Amino acid sequence: MFKKILIANRGEIAVRIIRACKELDIKTVAVYSEADEHSLYTALADECYSIGEAPASKSYLNYEKILKIAEKAGVDAIHPGYGFLSENSKFAEECDNRNIEFIGPPIRAIELMGSKINAKKTMKKAGVPVLPGREEPIEDEQEAIKIAKEIGYPVIIKASAGGGGIGMSVANDESELVDTIQSTKSIAQSAFGDSTIFIEKYLEKPRHIEIQILADKHGNVIHLGDRECSIQRRHQKVIEEAPSPIMTPELREKMGEAAKIAAKCIDYYSAGTVEFLYNAGEFYFLEMNTRVQVEHPITEIITGVDIVKEQIKIAYGNKLPYEQKDITFNGHAIECRINAEDSVNDFIPSPGKIKHYRSPGGPGVRLDSGVYGGAEIPPYYDSMVAKLITFGKNREEAIVRMRRALSEYMVFGIISNIPFHKSVLEEQDFLDGNLSTHYIAEHEKLLH
Ligand code: ADP
Repeated sequence: MFKKILIANRGEIAVRIIRACKELDIKTVAVYSEADEHSLYTALADECYSIGEAPASKSYLNYEKILKIAEKAGVDAIHPGYGFLSENSKFAEECDNRNIEFIGPPIRAIELMGSKINAKKTMKKAGVPVLPGREEPIEDEQEAIKIAKEIGYPVIIKASAGGGGIGMSVANDESELVDTIQSTKSIAQSAFGDSTIFIEKYLEKPRHIEIQILADKHGNVIHLGDRECSIQRRHQKVIEEAPSPIMTPELREKMGEAAKIAAKCIDYYSAGTVEFLYNAGEFYFLEMNTRVQVEHPITEIITGVDIVKEQIKIAYGNKLPYEQKDITFNGHAIECRINAEDSVNDFIPSPGKIKHYRSPGGPGVRLDSGVYGGAEIPPYYDSMVAKLITFGKNREEAIVRMRRALSEYMVFGIISNIPFHKSVLEEQDFLDGNLSTHYIAEHEKLLH
């Protein structure tokens, strides 16, 4: 096994990776920006190195600096976590050039899936269902108008290089479409340095359901079932659960098979997620995330598979210790992303110092966090405080436990979205499993 791993990330995911390494008897090297010097993950790692100023471009995205530290510290591998460099194929290549294992998929798979257009094209060719549209860049308005007429409004214009819910706009008619094209192009250019956009059918009330996969370097691919991630704000997830309340063994089998085809057709290995939109019995490929995801713990709980440890073992070259038939699904798990944000005021981030802190516990509770009482939530990165996860023998028990855990959770000094989560956990449509990606917009009363 690897002897020493550098974690090119921060916060809760850095803590999560350190935990996996400790269980595998691997030494850990943390890197931190000026804003993170006194964080939990730096306290837990075996070695720590400063990588510079707080803005991510000067620290967590500065891979030359990170690679220099990796060489100096003598690590065998780098775990990129999620965000930052995790889907940067150039970084993966630079690791390769230095004989350091990048804990993630092949460079080619990162490259292919990093372009939503190429990803869709590849999946369509492999027989994975995709949304109606055109898997080519949109060059001018006339072309977009023609395609929109063919597929019918509403349509969505998306940045091919997009991520984090940025660079997407919906058009309900021709005039909106014309307005949208230029604005999405310029957002795409400024946010991702790539103005390529494409068009597809916009589903009005879909559910976001994704499949976790694990694949090794020997051609073995399994799926670990589904996650429902429909509760989103600004196209970003806030509550996830596994399994989806609408999941049936038949649908899981179908979606799982599609996800496996998706992984196989790009010779994928490592952990990955194939995201789908689901509507009226049909599902469509949305994108593939070539990294570990924020919401991976809910799958770990219902399958008993440690995704991060498996990811590290796969990178080392181990064969998957499971076949598909070994994977069973037990009970139900829910994750609430506890963020420093003001849900009453458009979910604006509210970074600051956590003055008093007490975490919840007891039966069926898992907390993945990177904070402690007195810790600072810096304004430079995402506003996540912790992932509160509860599980039970069924959805009802997981919900009751989440309500209890939320009521035990004390995070004082910053504005958190705990009150928002409490409201959702009492709301009838949520209790009925009646969800869509517009859940929050349609239940605005929850926010007040
Ligand atoms: P990102 O890479 O920015 O996360 P995704 O392609 O994963 O973007 O989409 C994020 C969310 O945007 C989806 O979960 C869904 O809510 C919404 N979305 C994206 N494409 C469509 C579509 N064609 N129809 C309806 N909603 C969509």
